[in-house]
Amino acid sequence: MTRDAAVSKAGEIASSVLAPSAGQNDKLGRFSAEAVKALGESGLLGLLLPVDFGGAGLGPRTFAAVLATLAEADASVAMVYLMHILGVATMSAARSGAAQAVAPILREVGAGRHLSTLAFSEAGSRSHFWAPISRAHRNGNGGVCLSSKKSWVTSAGHAQSYIVSALAPEGAGPTDSTLYLLKAGTRGLSVAGPWDGLGLRANASAPIALEECEVSADLQLTDDGAGFPAMLNVVLPLFSLGSAAVSLGLCRSAVTGTVAHLKSAKFEHLGQSLGESLPTLRAQLATMQVDTDGLSARIDDVVDHLEKPRETTMLRVLEAKAAAGEVVISVTSTAMRICGGAAFSKHLGIERLFRDAHAGAVMAPTGDVLREFIGKSLLGIPLF
Ligand SMILES: Cc1cc2nc3c(=O)[nH]c(=O)nc-3n(C[C@H](O)[C@H](O)[C@H](O)COP(=O)(O)OP(=O)(O)OC[C@H]3O[C@@H](n4cnc5c(N)ncnc54)[C@H](O)[C@@H]3O)c2cc1C
Repeated sequence: MTRDAAVSKAGEIASSVLAPSAGQNDKLGRFSAEAVKALGESGLLGLLLPVDFGGAGLGPRTFAAVLATLAEADASVAMVYLMHILGVATMSAARSGAAQAVAPILREVGAGRHLSTLAFSEAGSRSHFWAPISRAHRNGNGGVCLSSKKSWVTSAGHAQSYIVSALAPEGAGPTDSTLYLLKAGTRGLSVAGPWDGLGLRANASAPIALEECEVSADLQLTDDGAGFPAMLNVVLPLFSLGSAAVSLGLCRSAVTGTVAHLKSAKFEHLGQSLGESLPTLRAQLATMQVDTDGLSARIDDVVDHLEKPRETTMLRVLEAKAAAGEVVISVTSTAMRICGGAAFSKHLGIERLFRDAHAGAVMAPTGDVLREFIGKSLLGIPLF
């Protein structure tokens, strides 16, 4: 699959599967199994997966473009897709001792039949996902036993696998974690509550409970204590880029929806559309467009840094999610104001975008934490 083919497939799915049901799924908090099926059949679930496993072997540039395209129609589905890609990237980077057990799962991903996700955040350490409270205990069979309360897991109850973090059995420090692969159906793994979020309501980001889950040694994805470097080097760059791309899709959708409203809503007594009549609304629309294109340029820049890693790459990665989280709230808030009562009373899809936009800043690493990291790194202060 080429980059253009991938983006065009994402566009077809966005218009034929996502857009028609995004509003209703948001209202009902309904996870779109049809969307996941369509993504699987199109080959997009294996977008970054090496071709040896049936994947497309494409890179971050295509990933960002596909995500923005999906998010323009339905950010809930885009977030499901993003967490899946992160799960697959973590499996693909697994230590050699897990390669044999992981290979059939990756082939299922390549065939479009396997959805994955990350289960890092815990009730105890909240957004500080790099410091799990739960600890893996050796089970005497070479594997471990895991018990924990994972507070938010996108695609909970729908994914076929969960990438789970826990402190390593002998880990001494708060970040000495290990990553494990738990298949859906593992004894002791259950969805522990409903998902009724303000935004991204259709992505099943419910808590899951792990109660004495046995994990065999071949499903230990990192060496003991090497979970944290995997989070930083494998997950964080793609998550930050992906989160920014989801924000971009939301911004584009907000601009499109606002333009449509400004053209169609009329002041009948003046014989003009809102857009023709009010320069203040045109100026606010222009600001939305400027900010959206600015975010697009930032995403191109971070992609370039990921394709050609250099000294400033990690800084750009941290900046991308922090900046995108603010831009998308600003753009969708302006859309709410421009579209006025029609948006407020939910006659347009704009308020869904506004609610979805607020997830980016609170998803960890949160916007505040990213600023902390950026500030500390500029001053040469250790981040952890
Ligand atoms: C829609 C959605 C989907 C999610 N999906 C997943 C998933 O699939 N897997 C997963 O593992 N997790 C997931 N999460 C969890 C997410 O990554 C965060 O862990 C969670 O949102 C943290 O919420 P909290 O209120 O408990 O954070 P808290 O830690 O209580 O943060 C509260 C506030 O304090 C601020 N804050 C915290 N620490 C600092 C600091 N050091 N400096 C400055 N400010 C700070 C935060 O920015 C925030 O504003 C998801 C969350 C959402 C909303």
